[in-house]
Amino acid sequence: MNIERSDRLKKLTPYLFVEIDRAKKKARSQGRDIIDLGVGDPDIPTPKFIIDELHKASLDESTHRYALDAGLLELRKAIAEWYKTRFNVTLDPETEILPLIGSKEGIAHIPLAFVNPGDRVLIPDPCYPPYRSGTIFAGGEPIYMPLLEDNAFLPDLKKIKPDAAKRAKIIFANYPNNPTGAIASKEFFKDLIAFAKKFNIIVCHDAAYSEINFDGYKAPSFLEIEGSKEIGVEFHSFSKTYNMTGWRIGFVCGNKDVISGLAQVKSNIDSGVFTAIQIAGIAALKSGIKNAIQFGSMYQERRDTVINGLARLGWKIQKPKATFYVWAHTLKGYDSTSLAKHILEKADVVITPGVGFGTYGEGYIRIALTVGKDRLAEAIERIKKVI
Ligand SMILES: *Cc1c(COP(=O)(O)O)cnc(C)c1O
Repeated sequence: MNIERSDRLKKLTPYLFVEIDRAKKKARSQGRDIIDLGVGDPDIPTPKFIIDELHKASLDESTHRYALDAGLLELRKAIAEWYKTRFNVTLDPETEILPLIGSKEGIAHIPLAFVNPGDRVLIPDPCYPPYRSGTIFAGGEPIYMPLLEDNAFLPDLKKIKPDAAKRAKIIFANYPNNPTGAIASKEFFKDLIAFAKKFNIIVCHDAAYSEINFDGYKAPSFLEIEGSKEIGVEFHSFSKTYNMTGWRIGFVCGNKDVISGLAQVKSNIDSGVFTAIQIAGIAALKSGIKNAIQFGSMYQERRDTVINGLARLGWKIQKPKATFYVWAHTLKGYDSTSLAKHILEKADVVITPGVGFGTYGEGYIRIALTVGKDRLAEAIERIKKVI
C-alpha cells in the first residue's frame, strides 16, 4: 500500500528540534560529551512540593477518572487568584479561564475554532513553530510579520497590508519572546489592541516566559491593557515557570467567546488534564512567586556567564531582560545553519540556528540557558577554540 501523507502535513517544514535532536543523538551515540543549549527545556527538576502534591492526589481514586473538560473549578479559581496578585487582572473562573494540556496544545488548536480555509493568520517571524503549524492545520494562510532588530523585535503593525489585515482572523504575539528574548511595553500592547479592533482580529498572546525576568524587570500581561479582553486571550504555561515541561499543563484566559470556541474544539479532541496534575498545579500557583525569583536569578547568572564569555571572544550580544534565551548574530562567513553545524561538529555544543524559527531568524543563533553555569562556561571555552 502506498501511504501518503495529507497535504497539510506536506506543507510543514520538518520540526526544527526533531532534526537537531537527530544530529545530537548521533553525536551522543558516538560517545561524544554533548553540551545541549538547543531545546528550551529547564534542567532543574520540578520543585518537590509540587511532586508531593501529585503523589498525594494520585492516591485519591477519584482522580483516576476522566477529568472535566473545563478543568477543576478549584484550578480555575487558583489561576484567577494568581492573575489578580501578579497582574491585578480580574478573570471569571467560570468563563474566562480554560486549562490546557500544555499551552502548546491550546496554541496549536485555537485556529481550528476560528480560521476557515483561506483565512489569514498573522504570525511573527521568527517564532515558536506551533503558531504556524496550527494555522496550516486549520487551512489558514500564514502572513508573516518580520521581527527586526531595528524595531526591537516587535512586529511593525503599520507595515501589515490592509488587504491581509482584513482577511486575518488571528494575530499571534509572544512577549517575552522566544526565540529573540525581546520584551514588549504596554504601549506596544495598546497598539496591538487598536490594530486588532480596527480589523476585527483575535489577539492570541503567548506569555509562557512572563515569570523569567532579569535586572528587576517584570513582564506585563497583555490582559492588563484596557480593551484587551474584548478582542483577545493570553496563553500561559506551568512549564517554564515551575519546570514542569513534561507534565503537560497550561492555560488560556481572556475573552469568553474565544475561550468557549477553543473549548468546543478541545471537547472533540481531548478529555482534559489528568486531575492529579491539576491539583499539583493548584499547589504550584499558590506557592507565590518565590520560585520565579529563585529561577530568575539563576538564569540571570547563566545569561551573564554566556554574554560576558562570548564578549571576551569579540562576540557582541545584547543582554535579554527576560526568557532563558540568548539571541546572537551569526559570525562572519557563516549562516545560522552552518554555524550551528560547525559548533556541534567541532565543539560538541548544540545551539539552534535562527532560520529554524523563520526566514527572518537567519543571521542569528539561539542559545538556551538550560544547563548549569559551569557547563555554560565550558561550552564557551569549547566554542572559543573553534571560531
Ligand atoms: C515553551 C513554550 C511554550 C509552552 O509550552 P507548554 O509546555 O506546551 O506549556 C509556549 N510558548 C512558547 C513561546 C514556548 O517557548
